[in-house]
Amino acid sequence: MNTSWTRRQLLRAAGALVLVPLLPMSARSALSELTGRTMGTRYRVHIRNSTNGLYLPKLKQSIERELETTDRLLSTYRAGSELVRFNTAGTRWYAASPTTLRVLETALSVQYASGGAFNAAAAPLVDYWGFGPQPGYYARNWTQVPHAVLSRVADAEIQIKPGYIRKHDRLAALDLNAIAKGDALDRVATVLNSAGIVDYLVGIGGEIVAKGTGPDGSGWRIGIEDPNGGIRRTIRLDGQAVATSGDYVNYFVRDGKRYSHILDPRSGRPVEHDLTLVSVVADTAMQADAWATALFVMGPDVGLQHAIQNAMAALFLQRMHGDLVEFATPAFQRFSLDTRGIAL
Ligand code: ADP
Ligand code: MG
Repeated sequence: MNTSWTRRQLLRAAGALVLVPLLPMSARSALSELTGRTMGTRYRVHIRNSTNGLYLPKLKQSIERELETTDRLLSTYRAGSELVRFNTAGTRWYAASPTTLRVLETALSVQYASGGAFNAAAAPLVDYWGFGPQPGYYARNWTQVPHAVLSRVADAEIQIKPGYIRKHDRLAALDLNAIAKGDALDRVATVLNSAGIVDYLVGIGGEIVAKGTGPDGSGWRIGIEDPNGGIRRTIRLDGQAVATSGDYVNYFVRDGKRYSHILDPRSGRPVEHDLTLVSVVADTAMQADAWATALFVMGPDVGLQHAIQNAMAALFLQRMHGDLVEFATPAFQRFSLDTRGIAL
């Protein structure tokens, strides 16, 4: 048996991005930057033509307050977070914060619309495969996922009513990591909007929201990294969000086989198809985040079909005969600048 974490994964822990803002050197002087650590990665805010430098420390405080809220409520890693307490609380109605309710509501709607490819209660599976708060668990014999783990996810029956959430199975547990970062990003964008800032880019890990005309006046340009290195695609955003899910960012290799941290709740196993990346552009980062994960699980055929039918802006990157092949939906093409993209 040979299990190893990847270089990518280590890079990710160090804050590497899948989506990179392309900021021309010439325009950087017009940008104010705020940055810091959050949710095991970095956040970055670029503001164009900020008129009041003294204002920035206060803005940073407000931004970090929003990020801290996500961590305090939705972290699966932080003992005592609202989510962790719910997960261990039994099957009674449980009082939850408006943020948790909103994120869970969206998660459940994506779960429904994706036919269960996305599952808000995937925590027992995530833990089982070793991608949860206790790393190393995967080292045991898991060729056959136990029925008890599968049914804990399938029979979770998460319910919502105003102010409260509930689960059907005492051992069912929520994992909202596939959507929580998106919601955090949307709330940071709201902070900037409320401060009257109209031209900005915010990124957390591999997710970005951009608004306004960008550093050179022609829109914020974002590079989608090629899993083999370099920039694969360049897109331009103004008022949208982009999120990426991929099998090359967080995975382990065991006996020569790749196991991704994105799991198919229906089979109980890491996704087995040959997609390597799905990027989604949407009006909110929460939608982009959730759908990047959902479409990734749905795979190159069903996922692409679903995205086209529902007019979603999505880019699929698939391994084929040792090569990478792209499929972009018509809605995605609207944001795409070119197929190769050149980092400025
Ligand atoms: P990232 O971790 O890079 O933000 P995603 O947004 O795709 O990537 O979220 C992946 C995380 O979501 C996993 O680490 C796991 O905690 C959780 N997860 C894995 N599979 C699913 C799934 N099918 N539905 C919902 N959440 C999932
Ligand atoms: Mg996601």
